[in-house]
This record gives sequence, C-alpha cells and structure tokens, in this order.
Amino acid sequence: MGRDFDLFVLGAGSGGVRASRLAAGQGVRVAVAEDDRLGGTCVNLGCIPKKLFVLASHYSEDFEDASGYGWSVGPSSFDWPTLIAHKDEEIARLNGVYQRLLDGAGVTRISGRARIVDAHTVEVGERHYTAEHLLVAVGSWPHLPAIPGIEHTISSNEAFALEQLPKRAAIVGGGYIGVEFAGIFNGLGVETHQIYRGPLFLRGFDDDLRKTLAEEMPKKGVSLRFETDVTEIRREDDGLHLALNDGSHLVVDEVLYATGRIPKTKDLGLERAGVALGKIGEILVDPYSQTNVPSIWALGDVTDRMNLTPVALAEAVAFVRTVFGGEPTRPDHTNVATAVFSQPPIGTVGLTETEARAQLGEIDVYRSSFRPIKHTLTGRDEMTAMKLLVDPKSDRVVGAHMIGADAPEILQGIGIAVKLGATKAQFDATIGIHPTAAEEFVTMREKVQEE
Ligand code: NDP
Repeated sequence: MGRDFDLFVLGAGSGGVRASRLAAGQGVRVAVAEDDRLGGTCVNLGCIPKKLFVLASHYSEDFEDASGYGWSVGPSSFDWPTLIAHKDEEIARLNGVYQRLLDGAGVTRISGRARIVDAHTVEVGERHYTAEHLLVAVGSWPHLPAIPGIEHTISSNEAFALEQLPKRAAIVGGGYIGVEFAGIFNGLGVETHQIYRGPLFLRGFDDDLRKTLAEEMPKKGVSLRFETDVTEIRREDDGLHLALNDGSHLVVDEVLYATGRIPKTKDLGLERAGVALGKIGEILVDPYSQTNVPSIWALGDVTDRMNLTPVALAEAVAFVRTVFGGEPTRPDHTNVATAVFSQPPIGTVGLTETEARAQLGEIDVYRSSFRPIKHTLTGRDEMTAMKLLVDPKSDRVVGAHMIGADAPEILQGIGIAVKLGATKAQFDATIGIHPTAAEEFVTMREKVQEE
C-alpha cells in the first residue's frame, strides 16, 4: 500500500526529536512536524532559558557576598535587554543544533501544525501524509484560571520575552515554575510577591524541603503569601491591582500565573481518530506509550505522566526499542531524580518522608542542617538541609533530599546510588570528599528520634 513514512512524529520537542533521530538512525523512514521552533518547551520556553535566568539573577547575591572575602565590587547594574538578547542568541544556536541533528539523521522536517485524520493519516495544512505509526509528542501549555482580569496577566511563555523587567511582580502558583520565577525576579531586583492558595508551596515534595525553602526565600526578599488567592485583577494607572481573598490588595506591574500546564491535545484530531483522553486532556497510554489505537503512540508532557525532559527522552528511547527494535521496553519512572531551580535550589530522589511512611510503615530518618562553609565569611544567613530516608527492613535508602547550593548537581550522583538500591551501610562506607556539603550524605549517623 506504500505509506509515505514508517513513523510520523507530531511535535519536535525533547521527546519527539529523540524518537525521530533514534528511529531514523535505524533506517526507519521518519517525518516530524512542528509549527514552532525546534526543541519544544525545554529549549525555547522552559529548562534552558529558565536556567540562564536563574544564573543571571544570582549575581546580585554573589556581588554582596564577595565583600566577606575581601573584594570590593564597584557599582553594579543589570540590563534586562542584554540578558534577553544573549539568551535569544543561545536558543537560536540550540534550534540550529536540533535542525542539524534531525537533518543529519535523515528525518524529513515538516513545518506546520499537524492534525490526525485517522489511525494512519496526518494533515499539515492542505497536505496529507500517511504513516505506519503516529507518535504524538506535542507537549503541554500553561493553564491559567478564568478569573476576572486574567487577560492582564502573563504565563512563563511571555516571561521569557518581556520587553521590560517589572519593578514589582506577583507570581501566582506554588509549583516548580512559581518558585523558580520568584527567585529569578527577586534576584534581578524586582519587588516580588509569591501567592499560593495552600498552606505551603511545592506540594508533593518532602516537607522539610518545603519548609526550609519557605524560610529561606523571605530572607532574600521574596514576600510569600500562603493560603491566599487572587479573586480579581484590574488595570489602573499605577499598575495592576490584585484583589486577594483575605480582603487585602496588592499593586504590581506584572502578574505571572504559574498554575500548572495542560496537555496540548485540543484540536489535534485525536477524538476523530478515537484516541482515549483523560480528565485534563492527556493522552492515555499503556506502559509502552501506546494509545488505545494501536498505530498511535504518545509520550512526554502530552501524556501527563512525569512532565520532565529527561523522562520524555527515556520514553522516546523505550518507544523506539519497542516499535522498531523488536524489544518491548517500558520506560522506568521510578526513582527519577529531579531538581527545582529555586534559590536556594532543591535536589531530590525517591520517596518523600510522607510517602515512605505510607508505603513502608516504619522508616529511619537522617537529617542534617548547617550553614555552608561559603557563608562563614559572607555572613549570609542561608541554611543547607539534607535528609536520607531508610527502610529499616532492607537498610535501603529510599529517599534523598537536599536544599542548598549545588543541590541539583549533588543529587544527580546520589540518584545513581538510590537507583542501584544502595543501602545506608553502603552510604556510610563511602568516604566523604572534604570540605563539601555533599559529604554530609555519607556522614549522617544519628537517626532522628521519633517525637
Ligand atoms: P505545577 O503543577 O508544579 O504547580 C502548579 C501550582 O499552581 C500549584 O501550586 C497549584 O496549587 C497551583 N494552582 C493550580 N491551579 C490553580 C488555580 N486555579 N488557582 C491558584 N493556584 C493554582 O505547575 P507549574 O506550572 O509550576 O509547572 C508545570 C510542570 O512543568 C511541572 O509539574 C513540572 O513537571 C514541569 N517543570 C519542571 C521544572 C524542573 O524540572 N525544574 C521546572 C518547571 C516546570 P496546588 O498545589 O494547590 O494544586
């Protein structure tokens, strides 16, 4: 019957590009359609520009800290357009890298928005393409609640391209994006208010990390308002007026909503093809990323499993092995180490204390909290905290958590040990690297006594 391609991928983000390249590398005839820049959210509107902004925003603190070490730093100032221009150059470079990778692998790139017509057909504009397998990897999009005045606000998408840095900003939401942007704006000198509807932000993370971050952010100048929600936003001459549910008001220049992201499945033709969707529009898949329509597969944020770039990459590898490698492979979503680039940052792997108690009953908890050596001379009152959770029956470390400088870098290594099922005795047998913060992970000896 001669279909146009063996694999047609919708979306050239992290997952779609990885799947396209790997499949093409095995001689599969692959096309990938994208209606925006190559690289998806992570490269263009997520991980990469976010990390650059976090790095930019940390200099204010670094300049202050330098004096404790004898440096006098001259007057410093920050220019937002310069940062944006340099960030845009770097992203354009990465877009080019992605293009070369796809072209080099022999993938056919199609520009435009693809929609599914049926189990083996996709349309892009007027053109129809047929393929043996379709892979949906179109990602997710910010979701903003429909409150009066929401049109005056921005999401993270726009925050990456603001023409001017606001003087005062409110950030609504207490997830990854909210805490990361609160730190970014605050570090760049913006009067920053973070508003979260619940009692403590970063729901789902270990409570000690959440509490420590809630203590540290105000020390740096962020105003945290928990148990608070915005009921209305009005634009007035002096700025955006936020009415809060406690009856108070807040006036700022920019309001960033970071209230979650939803799968980008609207108007994609999925219903027409009979693909089953979940409550928030996510594509329902089996452990191999296959939908209920056997020729249609989906991975990454659009499946709302674990919305992280490295997880999408792992799902792509497993998909290609399953479909084209003759080796059915399930992506492994257990013990995925992750980081929040808050200030200070968080690194975490495995179970939280609450999850560990629920799953294992008894657990041993080891905690360490200290002022990092750097701040003995800077005088900065910033704490680093670490925690290990151990299953007493097997002695395995089932959770490792850290908040403090370099936590994301440190937890990548600890993540390997946890993934391999290392025991507390093996952590203890490991000799520390001195003087580091990381050595605490192998020197915590005293169990926390249950209250
Ligand atoms: P999250 O789902 O992490 O957090 C959303 C936040 O908004 C929660 O605090 C939630 O509150 C709150 N919220 C949701 N709806 C409303 C509402 N109607 N009104 C007020 N508050 C609301 O989403 P993010 O947008 O922060 O990030 C999206 C995803 O992107 C993350 O889940 C993560 O997977 C990924 N990401 C990963 C990063 C990393 O790895 N470093 C960085 C950035 C994003 P509640 O807790 O009460 O539900």
